[in-house]
Amino acid sequence: MLMYHSVGDPMDDPYRVTVSPARLDRQLRWLRGHGLTGVSMTELLRARELGRAAGLVGLTFDDGYADFTEHALPLLRRHGCTATVFALPGLLGGANDWDRPGPRKPLLTADGIREAARAGMEIGSHGLLHRDLTTADEETLHRETHHSRTLLRDITGRAPEGFCYPYGTVDPRAAEAVRTAGYRYACATGAGPLTGMYALPRVHIGERDTTWRLRVKRALHPLRRPRTPRAHRAQREDR
Ligand SMILES: [Zn+2]
Repeated sequence: MLMYHSVGDPMDDPYRVTVSPARLDRQLRWLRGHGLTGVSMTELLRARELGRAAGLVGLTFDDGYADFTEHALPLLRRHGCTATVFALPGLLGGANDWDRPGPRKPLLTADGIREAARAGMEIGSHGLLHRDLTTADEETLHRETHHSRTLLRDITGRAPEGFCYPYGTVDPRAAEAVRTAGYRYACATGAGPLTGMYALPRVHIGERDTTWRLRVKRALHPLRRPRTPRAHRAQREDR
C-alpha cells in the first residue's frame, strides 16, 4: 500500500509530500509494465479476502488536495488504476493549515470529492479537521470519526468504508472509535503494535524518493528480499 499526498509542483515543499505529475506518470507506468495495478484500498482488501490480491497495489492520497482531480485523476485513468482519497469534510475548499510553515495548498471542495467519486475513486475519511486522534478528547474523537463519515456520506451518497489517521498517529482508543463509527478499515503509516485492519501500514512516496521501486517491492513482499536477476537490475535502475 502506497501513500501519496499532493500531486503538483514539488518545489518549496518542506514536508516532502508533493510528487510531480511527471513522476506519478512514470511510477504508474512502471507498475503497469511490471504487471501491477494500482487500486483503491477497498478493492485491495476485497481481493485479499478472496485470495486474488496478487498484482494489486493499494494507492492512497491523504488530505484530499484539490490537485488530486487536476493532476492525479487523469493519470490514474490513463493507466487504468483507481485509488483511495482520504478527504477532510470539515475543511472543504480550505487549505492545509496544519502544515506550518509551508506552502498553502487548497483542499477539495464537495464538488471535487464528488468528481473523484464519480470517476471511480474510493472516498475515505481523514477526519474533519486533521486532528491528532491520540490527543483528542472524547467529544473531538467522536466528531472526527462519526461526523466526518456522515458528512462524506451526504456528499457522495455513500458512507465511507475507510479512515486514515491524521499524522499517522493511532492508539487503541482511536482505533476503537474508528471501528465503532462503522468504518471497515483504517490506514496508519508504518507498521506497529496495532498493525491490522484498523492500522494498515503504508509506504510513503515522495518526489525525492529515488528508491521507490525497491519500496514497492518491499510493500508487496514485506518478508521477502527478492534475489532474482530482474530484481537486481531494477534496484540498479533506481540509482
Ligand atoms: Zn494528513
